[in-house]
Amino acid sequence: MPSTTHPHAFHFATPVDSYWEASADPLNAATPPFTGNETCEVAVIGGGFTGLSAALELAQQGVEVRLLEAGHIGWGASGRNGGFACIGSHKLSYTSMIATFSLEATRAFYRNMREAVDLVRDNLDHHGIDAWASASGEVTLAHLPGRVEELRAEQDFLKHTFGEDAEFLSPGDLEAQGLRGPGFHAGLKSAVGFGIHPLNYARGLARAAIRAGARLHADSRLIRWEETATGHLLTTPGGTLTARHVIIATNGYTPEDISAYHRSRLLPALSSILVTRPLSLPERQAQGWTSPLMAFDSRKLLHYFRLLPDGRFLFGGRGGTDASDPGGEAYHHVLTKAFHELFPAWREAEITHFWRGFVCLSYDLVPFIGALDERQSVWTAIAYHGNGVAMGTWSGRAVSRMLTKKTARDQVSPVLTRRLAKFPLPAFRPLYLKGAYLWYGWADAR
Ligand SMILES: Cc1cc2nc3c(=O)[nH]c(=O)nc-3n(C[C@H](O)[C@H](O)[C@H](O)COP(=O)(O)OP(=O)(O)OC[C@H]3O[C@@H](n4cnc5c(N)ncnc54)[C@H](O)[C@@H]3O)c2cc1C
Repeated sequence: MPSTTHPHAFHFATPVDSYWEASADPLNAATPPFTGNETCEVAVIGGGFTGLSAALELAQQGVEVRLLEAGHIGWGASGRNGGFACIGSHKLSYTSMIATFSLEATRAFYRNMREAVDLVRDNLDHHGIDAWASASGEVTLAHLPGRVEELRAEQDFLKHTFGEDAEFLSPGDLEAQGLRGPGFHAGLKSAVGFGIHPLNYARGLARAAIRAGARLHADSRLIRWEETATGHLLTTPGGTLTARHVIIATNGYTPEDISAYHRSRLLPALSSILVTRPLSLPERQAQGWTSPLMAFDSRKLLHYFRLLPDGRFLFGGRGGTDASDPGGEAYHHVLTKAFHELFPAWREAEITHFWRGFVCLSYDLVPFIGALDERQSVWTAIAYHGNGVAMGTWSGRAVSRMLTKKTARDQVSPVLTRRLAKFPLPAFRPLYLKGAYLWYGWADAR
């Protein structure tokens, strides 16, 4: 098990101290802990976007489905992320993806990611979820003068490969659009994607799934899993659930000790966020940042940030390998320093919240959706590389449709359905991560 998974990061009974937890609407639906001895057609493990979307889809199809979540609904990354509903759930470059999977498969993957963003919007509209949806658009910011040409090249690539229009923003354009910062040298603006309140969205999905007939159980951690010829015996502290099919939707929180299916195949990594008090309009103008657009910089160890609808500023970063509470305090300082360097006018603005959570990487650096056993009774959708708000939603629906054979496999890109490979020498995964971060830090400075 990678050492990033320190026990401090697994207090399922305690909500993380996030701004989302402090500001979310109540769930207003029953998610009682699982008790007794019950059976169902499909058991979903994990109550984040993937699991909730899977449960919603199955219930809508009339399938008897139960969802087991160790904490409360949205306890994991789904309730604590930056709320960027956007594309980009891979770390493999498009060039390598084309070389490995073909141009056609890469285009299908891109299409799937676009569909994922649309699905989040549809869910908000169709199920009446108030998730503070922001205006559409996302900007990549060149963090060094040397990265400006890379943005221009990316603009061309997106146009020629996917037919996607992205707008190049000069420093003057950034200024005019309220996206100014001392560390930003140009931008590339895409119209795809929008910001949301992720915990409100998770709770809205849960209500929709329950209304459709799914039974959701919070505080119901899967602690033992036995397989028989006919089904899966899933034990929680309150009882045993026997299911014909299981969907594992635990992403960065996947327990490697309970089943062998994911063992050695995933690499959890930390992502962290700070949120300020509400910033007044003059304060925002003093910094030159007034835009509600989602933004991230061109670093490999990227920073992502956006103004929230109530004027607070959310600033996140990837990095840090110590998931203990002291490790969190140390990274809080690192992230605050980066925030102050990029937004110096807000140095005195109080930071009211800081929290962290796990994202999930695969060895091939692309997500996976599919069955894990030969008899096709264990399924998963997983490894969104820190970008699963939209893709987790879409993949949860896709895995359910694959399970019930509602979706022809060829509607899901082959990029997503290749075998979930093992990491070579899996015990060294923490070292891979540390090595990658050292390399990224070096590359980001050039
Ligand atoms: C700080 C942070 C910022 C991020 N920002 C963004 C962003 O802006 N945009 C974006 O697209 N993505 C972002 N991500 C990634 C995104 O949040 C995830 O990809 C997505 O939420 C994954 O959803 P999921 O349902 O697959 O997994 P999760 O939401 O992590 O849910 C997994 C669940 O499984 C449960 N579980 C684990 N073990 C058991 C067990 N034994 N029994 C029962 N339940 C169990 C956990 O309690 C957890 O709730 C961010 C992630 C983090 C941590």
